Formats: sequence, structure tokens, C-alpha cells
Amino acid sequence: MDEEIRRLALVHAIRNALKYGKARPGPVIGKVLADRPDLKQRIAEVREIVQQVVEEVNSKPEGEIQRIAEELGVLREEKRGKEERKWPPLPNAEKYERIVTRVAPEPNGYPTLGHVKGLMVPFVYARRYGGEFHLRFEDTNPRVERLEFYDAIREEFLSITEAAERVLGLAPGRWDREIVESDHLPELYGYAEQLIRQGDAYVCTCPAREVRLNRARGRECPHRSQSVEENLELWHGMLEGRFGEGEAHLRLKTDMRHPNLTMRDPGIFRIIEHPHPIHGDRYRVYPNYDFAVSVMDSLTGVTHAFRSKEFEPHVDVQRAILEKLGLRQYEMIQFGRITVEGLPLSKRHIRPLISAGILWGWDDPRIPTLKGLKRRGITPEALVLLMYDMGPSKVDATVTMDAIAAYNRKWLDPRVPRYMFVADPIKAEIEGVPGDLVAEVRVHPDRPEMGTRRIEVPASDGVARVYVSWSDHRSLEPGQEIRLRGLANVRVRSVMPDGLALTYLPEVRTDVKIIHWAPVEGAVPAVAISPTSAYSFESMGGFGEPAMSELREGDLVQLIRFGFARVDGRDGETVRLIRSHG
Ligand SMILES: [Zn+2]
Repeated sequence: MDEEIRRLALVHAIRNALKYGKARPGPVIGKVLADRPDLKQRIAEVREIVQQVVEEVNSKPEGEIQRIAEELGVLREEKRGKEERKWPPLPNAEKYERIVTRVAPEPNGYPTLGHVKGLMVPFVYARRYGGEFHLRFEDTNPRVERLEFYDAIREEFLSITEAAERVLGLAPGRWDREIVESDHLPELYGYAEQLIRQGDAYVCTCPAREVRLNRARGRECPHRSQSVEENLELWHGMLEGRFGEGEAHLRLKTDMRHPNLTMRDPGIFRIIEHPHPIHGDRYRVYPNYDFAVSVMDSLTGVTHAFRSKEFEPHVDVQRAILEKLGLRQYEMIQFGRITVEGLPLSKRHIRPLISAGILWGWDDPRIPTLKGLKRRGITPEALVLLMYDMGPSKVDATVTMDAIAAYNRKWLDPRVPRYMFVADPIKAEIEGVPGDLVAEVRVHPDRPEMGTRRIEVPASDGVARVYVSWSDHRSLEPGQEIRLRGLANVRVRSVMPDGLALTYLPEVRTDVKIIHWAPVEGAVPAVAISPTSAYSFESMGGFGEPAMSELREGDLVQLIRFGFARVDGRDGETVRLIRSHG
């Protein structure tokens, strides 16, 4: 009996400690009694046990508390509770034998951070429900679509879903089916013809301006009362090229006085005289968004279609199209958009910066395209964890670069090797060394299994030479004792504007200021570029330790006392790094 009370007290004390750092007896007693009201008669006993347990818990280090929490299943419960609040069950999931979701990007640009939510939400749900996940290219506006964007989307999306498999265990980390909407154009034409034959669509040749006015005023145009035969004839005329772009379009016949303006005989097919990135000149008539998305979702078995909430007024149109065609309906779910504070996310803003030469391209590390973030050293794992914590919320959200950096740091910190990089180097001479100096530095301070590196600093005539950074140099004072990380303790003899004179000290002490350094002999020239905004960056030159010559493009590292960075490439001997964040 006492054991039972003790166990209950422990669970609540651990919860309390996890939440507030320390457990407090009062709330723990309250929780215990809430679980077991019968114990109110034994309150004195309960209080005593809780006091003991709370003291024990508070005396344990944090790691131990985590371990006990794990053992008691407290962490799992907490995590599950949190996830369920963030990722509510899908509506009407039980109506469907198998959940099918999709992400449906238009290949009209390089994917950005904003796309990650549109990808993650349907992907997480498909995997959670053991369902099917599709990647569908909505490529029915050839004027803005390019082949390279299909590939960029495939590549970037795959790196995200693969990361989701690695960090969240959502397998398989890729889509189950790829669909290219434009491959289905003949089928879509068939549905258009069905609507015409049913009297539910008509070809309108009014100029665009008039159509807009009529829709705003709720006025019908003469084309609305054309016969089926006339409409079929005009429709074939559209397909065969008897009309130019903008001269005719197919409209759904609904209600020109509908309170939702998008419902007033919306256009469903239009002429676009521009070669398609896949089909070239084969087609000239393309469906509008509402027609393509609703028919394709229905035909490909989608049960839950997610889209960002600015499409909400279109739900009526899409439902009307499906209804008239007698096609299967499905769940339509809206979610809020993501923007990055202070950074342009839209193509409209990024493109001119690229043309003006301010940005280096779509992979510029200053912008939140997925290519740019990757080049900056932001891992897909960090983006996955960030989006997962944000959940499928319907509210528009702003993400700061600091938040992205926090997730990335947490992911990289235990994993990437450390290097010493000396920015704005100043030469320091260490006098009185007994011979060549050798530093043994750990590749990662907390992970001995990652090994150590030897850095040799040759001495001649009792003098060894290293670089230290200008910012350290200017903070030093004569007489001060410092430690050159992993190498030796030294006393500052004199601080000159362009140099530093140090005296070697034989004993090792780590309770003094520790600074990083690079040997003069074998130092690797390096430049670190820090993005500061979409328009600017800071560039710092310096020397890295000799092992930095082995770094390859794409390597992620932590530069000690400088920040996390990604190797961007080389310019001759010089290693070029992009600083991700501190
Ligand atoms: Zn008309």
C-alpha cells in the first residue's frame, strides 16, 4: 500500500520537477489526492511520503530525473499529450478505408521554407494513419513553369521527408506516388466535355474586363444561354486553335448572383499559348486551379486535401465541380501560412534581388529558399523538428531566423566536429618553449569516440609562432596568464598593435582565459561569410588549423567561439565557409 502511494508520489514529483525545475510538495500532494481521493483519510501519511519523495527527486541531477521519467513512462505520456494537442486527429478519418494525402506544388519556382509546412502536414498524417502520400505537380500554367523547378522540388522535398523518417521515425521517408497533372490533360478535357453536354458549362468569348464586371454585378452574358451544340463547337474551336489566348474560356454554369463571388460562373479552362515544360506545344487549353485540383484529388483517391487557407473561398467552387461531375468528394482542410521574419519568402520579392545581383542566386544563404537554407548549413532535420513542433495550425505563423537557428544548433551541437578558426589573425610569438609544441585536441569535447587531432607547432630557437584573433588580442593585458586551447599556458609579455609576445609556462591551468589559435606553419586560409539580412552579409578572413584543409564542400562544422558553419567551397587554398549561426 505504502509502495503504491510512493510510486504515485514519484510520478507526480517527477512531472512537477520536469515542469518547474524543482518539485514542490504542495502540488504533488494535490495531484496524488486527485488520483486517489480515498487517501484523504490518510493525509498525514501521504504528506510524509510525498515530502520524502520530493526531497529525493530534488537531490537528483537532471539527467537522472530524465532517466526515471523515461522509465515511468512520464515522458512518453507528456510527449503524446503534447503531440495530440498539436496534431489533432483527421476529421472523418474513420469514413475512409485508407487515408490518402498529397502535397501539390506548382513547379514555378524553388521551394522555400513556406513549402515545408505544406509538405510536412500531409506527410505526417499519411504516415501516422498508415496511409498513402502523393507528390503531385500542379503544372497547368506553362507560362511560369520550368523543368528545373520539378527537379528542385523533388530534390528538396525528398531531403525533408527523408529527414522526417530519420528524426521522427515516419517511414518510408518519401512519397508513395508521383503524379504529373499535365499528363492527365486529355482526361480532364473529357470531364470538361461532360460538363458541356450536361449543360453545366459554356464557352464565353467576352473580354476579360467585361467578365470581371459582370461577375461583380451579378449579370449574365449572352453566351450563358448558348445551346450544348454551340458550346461543343466553340470548345473544339478552343482546343484546335481557332481562338487566341484570352479570346475564349470555358465557364462553369452555377449562379451569377451567388453570395460567394468566386462561385459566379467561374472560369474552368483557358487558353495559354506558351510551350509547356514537359509537353511542349501539344496543348493550348489548360484547366484553372479549382478544376484541376478538385478533379485530380478526386481521381487519385485523396481523402484529405490540405491547402493554405487563402483558398477557402474556392471550396464551394471545387465542391460544385465534383458534384456536377458525379465525382467522389473528400475532406478539404485549410492551414495557415509560414513567413520568416524580415526575410522575403515570395518569388516576387526574391527575383528582383537576384536580377539586380544583390543575391547570388536561388541558393543564396541569405534567403529562406530550401536551397539557400541548405547552403547556410540549416539541416533538413532542424526544419522537420521545427515544423513538427508547430503542427498543422490554421493560424498564420511567423518564424524567426533565431528559432530556426535554435533548432539547428540543437541538432548539430552533439554531432559536428570542432575546428579552430582565427578571424582577423594577429601573430603571437611564444618564447621559452622547451621544444616543438604539440596540441592534442578532441574532435568533439563531449564525444571522445570522435577521436582527437594533433596540431604541431614547431619551435626554433625556443620560439613557437601561432595566430590569435584580433578580438582576443585587443582584450589582453601584459602580465595576464592565458591558455592556448589544448596547447600550452602562456603569460602575456607585451601587446603590440600588430603582434603579441608571450612567455611559455610549463604548468597546465584551465582556470584562466582560454583562447583559440592556429599555428603559423600549416595554417589554412579561410573566409567565413555571415548572412546578416537578405541584402547584406559580413565577411571575415583568417586562418584555420591545418586539419581544415581536409574539409569538403557541404561539411558542417563548429568553429570554436565563432559559430556553426557549412563549407561552401574553395577558392584555391582558401576554404570558404558560410556561418550558419552562433
Ligand atoms: Zn460571355
